[in-house]
Amino acid sequence: MAEKTLTCLACGQLNRVPEARLTAGPKCGSCGAALLSKQPADVDPAILQKAVQNDDLPLIVDFWAPWCGPCKMMAPEFTKAADKLTGQARLVKLDTQRHQSTGGRYRIKGIPTLVAFERGKEKRRQSGALREGQIVAWVKAR
Ligand code: ZN
Repeated sequence: MAEKTLTCLACGQLNRVPEARLTAGPKCGSCGAALLSKQPADVDPAILQKAVQNDDLPLIVDFWAPWCGPCKMMAPEFTKAADKLTGQARLVKLDTQRHQSTGGRYRIKGIPTLVAFERGKEKRRQSGALREGQIVAWVKAR
């Protein structure tokens, strides 16, 4: 059976998940955290880098900051999109205020910026706040 590698966003452990179980609420074999949470996780830069390199599912990162109004407007839309895209992509958030060097490393010039990573590479990015339907369409149009 085909398996997907997913990095646990809580502890960084790599997990192999059978494709058929992707929508069945798989949990990390090490710490028990949900691998495909419906609520986009705020990730640590080290874990983000590991997930970018190892994950078999597309990883969609919302680079945001607490002081950014459009980011706050987009947050509930991003959460709804994550729910719609369960099993197709993982949506996560990175706080560029808390992790300032990370925004630079990924060349984030304005926020919110969405970056789609797939199999270790950046595929696309999009700046500016989007609605749920726009986020879902953007993720699927690959
Ligand atoms: Zn874990």
